[in-house]
Amino acid sequence: MVGTISLTEHDVLLAVDVQNDFCPGGRLAVPRGDEVVPVINRLCDKFSHIVLTQDWHPAGHLSFASSHPGKSAFEMITAPYGLQVLWPDHCVQDTPGAGFRRDLVAPRAELIVRKGFRREIDSYSAFYENDHVTPTGLTGYLRERGFIRVFVAGLAFDFCVRYSAEDAHRGGFATVVIEDACRGIDVNGSVAATRRALAEIGAQVITAEQIA
Ligand SMILES: [Zn+2]
Repeated sequence: MVGTISLTEHDVLLAVDVQNDFCPGGRLAVPRGDEVVPVINRLCDKFSHIVLTQDWHPAGHLSFASSHPGKSAFEMITAPYGLQVLWPDHCVQDTPGAGFRRDLVAPRAELIVRKGFRREIDSYSAFYENDHVTPTGLTGYLRERGFIRVFVAGLAFDFCVRYSAEDAHRGGFATVVIEDACRGIDVNGSVAATRRALAEIGAQVITAEQIA
């Protein structure tokens, strides 16, 4: 079939932030975020190698609007490393909201990358914190494991998926985004901006059924 992708041992699925707080009923719910779970479960059956990320903030995190008196969620602030969107408190370490969705079935996941654990800096990307300088270590891990191609899925399309895909590309990996395994928040045109950014780096954007 035209457009079908065959997986190899050098492919890894990066499932981003499939956590309770990012799904309906959570504190920073991505609209229809829960719909990615069955799609990602099916992808987990196809991939030999799976890495999960987990947003994992201390209380009082800089990205929380509640940490900035007078500010509201979705306003911007200027952090030392640049513009930062303020969010409702979410994915606080060791709270139920920070847990993976119970219906996520990824028992073979080989690594869980926790991010956003430094109070003074946010981390959208699985590879770098929002200063785009501080690494999470994932690039080195994937290189040492011999992975060549990174398939990105999860939440939210226009934030953590976008920046993870951009940094996978920057790290020298062939980068594929599985769009129907993602859902977006869409703050100030961020979904359209994400599509443009992915096109600019030449990331392949596919649907889950294209994977053999
Ligand atoms: Zn966060």
